[in-house]
Amino acid sequence: MGMVVIKCPETGRVISTGIEMDRERFRCTAVFFSRTYCKMCAATHEWFAKEAWVYESALANGTSGGRESFGGGAA
Ligand SMILES: [Zn+2]
Repeated sequence: MGMVVIKCPETGRVISTGIEMDRERFRCTAVFFSRTYCKMCAATHEWFAKEAWVYESALANGTSGGRESFGGGAA
């Protein structure tokens, strides 16, 4: 699961929209329009899905360490 983020048009900083969505789903989502309150500008920015992208922080933790060993019970 990732977080939909946009770039603040005023400061150029990346801000979170608070919308959680995975990248695949976001890509398949029809173009939508939304508003996000920006703390840095103390204003609400309006944005389109095409201006947003999904930031997946979960990827850094990677759970794909396929190292399972089924040892033959040496008790
Ligand atoms: Zn802003």
